[in-house]
Amino acid sequence: MAQTSARAFDVIVVGSGASGGWAAKRLAEAGVEVALVDCGRPHGDETFSEHTSSFSLKYRDRAPDLIKRTRPVQKDCYACMEYNYDWFANDLQEPYTTPADKPFSWQGRLRVIGGRTNVWGRQSYRLSDLDFKAKSHDGYGDDWPIEYKDLAPYYDIVEEYVGISGQAEGVDELPDGQFQPPMAMSCAETLFRTRVKEKFGRTVTIGRTANLTKPINGRQACHYCGPCERGCQTHSYFNSAFTTVADAIKTGKCTLVPNAMAYKVLTDPQSGKATGILYIDRVTREPKEVRARAVVLCAQALESTRILFNSANKDHEAGLANSSGVLGHYLMDHHSSAGAFGILPTLTRPVKIGPPDRPNGIYVIRFRNTKTSEQQKDFIRGYGFQGGGGGGYPNFWAPGFGAAWKKAILAASPSYLQLGGFGETLARFENHAVIDPQGKVDAWGIPVLHVSMTFGDNERAMMKDIAATAAEMIEAAGATNVQSNMDANAVPGWGIHEVGTARMGTDPKTSVLNAFCATHDVKNLYVMDGSGFVSIACQNPTLTIMALAVRATDHLLEEMRTGTI
Ligand SMILES: Cc1cc2nc3c(=O)[nH]c(=O)nc-3n(C[C@H](O)[C@H](O)[C@H](O)COP(=O)(O)OP(=O)(O)OC[C@H]3O[C@@H](n4cnc5c(N)ncnc54)[C@H](O)[C@@H]3O)c2cc1C
Ligand code: SF4
Repeated sequence: MAQTSARAFDVIVVGSGASGGWAAKRLAEAGVEVALVDCGRPHGDETFSEHTSSFSLKYRDRAPDLIKRTRPVQKDCYACMEYNYDWFANDLQEPYTTPADKPFSWQGRLRVIGGRTNVWGRQSYRLSDLDFKAKSHDGYGDDWPIEYKDLAPYYDIVEEYVGISGQAEGVDELPDGQFQPPMAMSCAETLFRTRVKEKFGRTVTIGRTANLTKPINGRQACHYCGPCERGCQTHSYFNSAFTTVADAIKTGKCTLVPNAMAYKVLTDPQSGKATGILYIDRVTREPKEVRARAVVLCAQALESTRILFNSANKDHEAGLANSSGVLGHYLMDHHSSAGAFGILPTLTRPVKIGPPDRPNGIYVIRFRNTKTSEQQKDFIRGYGFQGGGGGGYPNFWAPGFGAAWKKAILAASPSYLQLGGFGETLARFENHAVIDPQGKVDAWGIPVLHVSMTFGDNERAMMKDIAATAAEMIEAAGATNVQSNMDANAVPGWGIHEVGTARMGTDPKTSVLNAFCATHDVKNLYVMDGSGFVSIACQNPTLTIMALAVRATDHLLEEMRTGTI
């Protein structure tokens, strides 16, 4: 028998990451009593290690196999290391299954307050109407039920608070935002930007990143120490744990419920409305219930989808809010397994050891299949590049020993240019997640997901083009030894941008959420993470996830104010 909290809340928000932090902040600041339920444990500045040297760690950050013993999937994520691996889920306790011939890498499952925003790459780009209305452009899939102008004011709100540094470029495919001053480009990057514009007319810009270049809200400007994925004691990158969640708690209206694995959404059989959630205490393993007027799922797309499936009841046998049958379908992730590398032999740099280390790269704005470019024959949609150029790094791989080696690693080095594509993956019904048909459960007895996803012909054709255009641009900048790369066996999940499993739409027969992220079937149940994406575009998703969450929260507040909820 589950214990029920004596306290009734107005709203339960499940998940304290990018989306949940915003929902909790906005609701609590409006005077609403919020329970912020997260399966992670609280943590703060004392657990951050961005200034810790690897030689002070037990295994010098050189024992990946040790981490793999408990985190065989999480360790595939570049950000999971000896410094922070216990922030990540233990894969043995929290498994999932896939078909034998369709690997899916569900990495980036964080189990600390702030979720993925603790370790994210912070690249922050707006979507444009080329993305929101992609079907109208090329006939494939579905348009979103919103357009750019609906979301633009919410992008403004998010950018101003989060602090996005970047450069306005006036390019339709990547709308400009409310930017803090941009970080500087290196010589190699400036040369690359100039040559690529001259030769191809394509725009290379400095990465738009959630790292402060000027202080706001008591947070300091970034001092370029580099490894943001290990935390930041000056709070200079955006992590919901020390921004939105902290703001929500400061109001006195938000109660944090950590270590709480949400199992299912509870509903009232008479009214059909959501009444609360059942969760399992990760520490005591006791089942507990918490009640509220409305429930908001922000647990990350696949996790929220799992909760909805596990909330099936006799009125919703296929999962809660799944009368359309599309819950779990249209799973998307970016493909990011093609690019190129080259050397700029004439741009040599003296070697530096240690910081400054700009926590950001450059970005090449989408130029394929736009409204003004010619349509590609082999694929629809497009891609952007993330990368960088620079030099002056010590060559730790230089051969030799002792004094000769020390001299060799400090020899002046040429600059390099590197690009990696992030491409749009098409929304396909067959890419999906369901509850594991074999009945597998996690360490808390909660049924786990079975995830089935592959890349298709469109993605493979796009990857080839990515490798070719990366090489041609790097060559145009005067690089030698240019090598393009493409991994034909790219595994979905590597992009760590899963979205789309409870998509938005105007028709309840073909979508789970309405244009405000409320489920069509259960009026007082919202899903505000990336589940609602109709298409993934090629831009990193989190800025859009946050803007959608703010818009949806304002809608929920209005529904509560008018008594509809
Ligand atoms: C290494 C890495 C780099 C990335 N780089 C970028 C980037 O550069 N740009 C970009 O746009 N995006 C990036 N992302 C993706 C970005 O972090 C996510 O898109 C974003 O954080 C998603 O927000 P969310 O609110 O949906 O989920 P999260 O931020 O992950 O928050 C979900 C929260 O829900 C909690 N939770 C999960 N399940 C349950 C449950 N059953 N019960 C209770 N709580 C639960 C988790 O503990 C977590 O705190 C990156 C991700 C990773 C891992
Ligand atoms: S690089 Fe900047 S944002 Fe990242 S940890 Fe260092 S100071 Fe913080």
